[in-house]
Amino acid sequence: MTSYLKGLKCKNCGKESPPDRSFVCLECFGPLEVSYHYSAIQADLNPQIIGQREPNLWRYRELLPLEGDPIAGFHSGFTPLTRAGRLAEHLGVKELYLKDDSVNHPTLSYKDRVVPIALSRGAELGYTVFSCASTGNLASAVAAHCAQAGFACLLFIPHDIESAKITGSLLCKPRIVALEGNYDDVNRLCAEIGDHYGWGFVNVNLRPYYTEGAKTMGYEIAEQLGWKLPDHLILPTAGGTLLPKVAKAFGEFTDLGWVQGQCRIHSAQAHGCAPVITALHDGQDFIEPVKPNTIAKSIAIGNPADGPYVLQEVRKSGGWGESATDPEIMEAIELLAEMEGIFTEPAGGTTLAVAMKLIRQERIDPNETIVVAITGNGYKTLEAFDSQGEVDVTLRPNLKIFKEWYEEHPLESRENQVGTPA
Ligand SMILES: *Cc1c(COP(=O)(O)O)cnc(C)c1O
Ligand SMILES: [Zn+2]
Repeated sequence: MTSYLKGLKCKNCGKESPPDRSFVCLECFGPLEVSYHYSAIQADLNPQIIGQREPNLWRYRELLPLEGDPIAGFHSGFTPLTRAGRLAEHLGVKELYLKDDSVNHPTLSYKDRVVPIALSRGAELGYTVFSCASTGNLASAVAAHCAQAGFACLLFIPHDIESAKITGSLLCKPRIVALEGNYDDVNRLCAEIGDHYGWGFVNVNLRPYYTEGAKTMGYEIAEQLGWKLPDHLILPTAGGTLLPKVAKAFGEFTDLGWVQGQCRIHSAQAHGCAPVITALHDGQDFIEPVKPNTIAKSIAIGNPADGPYVLQEVRKSGGWGESATDPEIMEAIELLAEMEGIFTEPAGGTTLAVAMKLIRQERIDPNETIVVAITGNGYKTLEAFDSQGEVDVTLRPNLKIFKEWYEEHPLESRENQVGTPA
């Protein structure tokens, strides 16, 4: 296929370089970002062509950093954008959607978007062993996509992440090293190991390519809304990859003339790890690192690499940000399940809890279109729900016994049933 990949460009000083193995600017040590031949993309691609392609993230391949064909992620991305009718009614808003990456293929989180890009580009750059520093979901995704593509894989994780995330990864047969420390300690070691062994660390030395994968969430939201941007989008922030890249995606679609309007992008963090929200509220550009303490472990990054870019994009778009406490996160998880049947992990609870706050604060107009990103799956974080595994009753399997119990405990119908006239 034709390559539309142009090169790398420093996000700080703008210096351009070829799309090779480098990941920091040689002039100023700033992060590098991929640039494309947009006029060629404009000439060769349009929404109609995209619309006819397979429902996975490679439907936007011209806008992804690859010279040849992809080798992973053939069923990743293109997750459902569901209209949340009952939840919308409950929250008093008109048009609410959930971008549901809790069912992303194959490891049930947004990380199934970034890893296939890192692996495909990493292979083009000659890497044969892949690695990462992870809060859990990234490790699962690297382990799974390496298994499918046939690459050796070595993962670094904090020792206290949720066991389901480790179990799922272990079966894919990576090597896993747990480190006594938090994500920020793990990340520091990975940066020190760096290129020493010639491994492709998806979120360290492959970061310029890896982060491009996050744009696909933005492309999909716009396409699934019928080539329109929502008025509001609420995204979780951990290391700060997702939010600026979704902003980039919206900007690209706008520049290509495929969508119009302005989406206000809002950032959500857990109160126990909210360095970006603190800086936003204080009007600072600098992000003071914090020591994370929250049940939302997959977004517990105290020293977010791309935090300043989150601030920049939130401000540029006219959005805002809030944090949610652990009890607020748990409440939002329950509400989402009760209203929409979706079981998310604390990261998704954080995003919904923050969306609810922004609606209450009237920063979000109830008549405008709102999209809430659900980035991970609750089945991977069952520890967070330990105390909630109580069933209503345990009975002997006998009709008479059941009838007696049911007479005392009849079911009530739910308010705002779908399809019931108001
Ligand atoms: C990694 C992750 C995020 C967002 O992380 P960024 O580093 O800000 O891109 C959000 N939710 C879940 C479930 C994640 O695993
Ligand atoms: Zn630079």
